[in-house]
Amino acid sequence: MTAARNGLCLCGAGRLTAAPEHGAHACHCGNCRKWSGGKFLAAQSGTSVVFNQDAPLARYGSSDWAERVFCARCGRSLVWQMKDGSGQIVSIQAFDSPGDFGIESQIYVDRKPDSYALANRTEMLTEAEVIARYAIAGPEGA
Ligand SMILES: [Zn+2]
Ligand SMILES: [Zn+2]
Repeated sequence: MTAARNGLCLCGAGRLTAAPEHGAHACHCGNCRKWSGGKFLAAQSGTSVVFNQDAPLARYGSSDWAERVFCARCGRSLVWQMKDGSGQIVSIQAFDSPGDFGIESQIYVDRKPDSYALANRTEMLTEAEVIARYAIAGPEGA
């Protein structure tokens, strides 16, 4: 966990603060690709996310245990979080300096379309490896 950073959506109304880890991951799962419009580049942020009280946010439950928080005005994907409040993962694109985050791992690599690939050298985890490591279950992980 690092110092708190401010994050915001495309239109600027969906604001938050979070204390994300420096390292980020790229998720290639189908849900993340549908939701973010690409691979989801995000950083573990513990339970540090605080949404601005006036932010026009909406939530979509993408699995029994997780939901995705986005701006209802501009549609910008912001935070993946556990419904029980045990963990939050923030899009690094919400922050002013997404380049501060090293992409350390790629997850659901077996769900990635063959039409693109990251040149970054990272840890590569399949869906089965993600489920084993994080003890989550179900198709498309989240
Ligand atoms: Zn917005
Ligand atoms: Zn994903």
